[in-house]
Amino acid sequence: MATSRDGWEAVPKGIVDLHTHTFRSDGELCPAELAQRARLNGYSVLGLADHADHSNLEAVLDSAVKAAKSLRGAYPGFRVVPGVEITHVPPPLIPGLIRRARELGALCVVVHGESPVEPVEPGTNLAAISGRCDILAHPGPIGEREALLAAKNGVALELSARGGHSLANGAVAKAALATGCPMVISSDAHAPGDILSPALWRMVARGAGLGVADARKLAAFAARLAKRLSASSAVPRERGGIP
Ligand SMILES: [Zn+2]
Ligand SMILES: [Zn+2]
Repeated sequence: MATSRDGWEAVPKGIVDLHTHTFRSDGELCPAELAQRARLNGYSVLGLADHADHSNLEAVLDSAVKAAKSLRGAYPGFRVVPGVEITHVPPPLIPGLIRRARELGALCVVVHGESPVEPVEPGTNLAAISGRCDILAHPGPIGEREALLAAKNGVALELSARGGHSLANGAVAKAALATGCPMVISSDAHAPGDILSPALWRMVARGAGLGVADARKLAAFAARLAKRLSASSAVPRERGGIP
């Protein structure tokens, strides 16, 4: 068990979780309730990333952007980042959809990676990395070659708190640590009970084999990423035309 002397107690300072779902796709909560519950669990940043393909990208982002706008400044020290999770899209179409998502106001583009528990098309991880998404979610047992390219392209690899997806967290952490690729921890929350707490966040980090110094680095990277993504909202993004 970790003791306060290990230094684990102080990590993370505020939870940054950029991969969660609302009832706009297959989550259970509306954005405001998800935000309220996340905030009370110790979040500083909540990213909305509902599942999307070509059929519903605009609707998902319209909803996420409106939710983030309505909650902006509502709670001190807490913010909502509008995003999307591009899910089961054929790999050659992924880079174009990442660009379109950004035009529609996605500040954080997550791609649903090659999870060990879903029939995700092989090549999805590479298409997401080449298309420079922000986070490659649950990439499965990714190798160092792809992790190196992710590091070069500024794509963070995800350690997932979600059952099933999390089976490959050890391999993801190993490849990321070997190549200097940044990592994030996400809940992939679909229901209230999935929302991270600081204790669960630490368990995901420790379970993936991270030491406290690596966990601190991960938390600091996630905070910088969220800050950078939020700052990019100053750029007008509505040219793409949200219906
Ligand atoms: Zn889902
Ligand atoms: Zn997800």
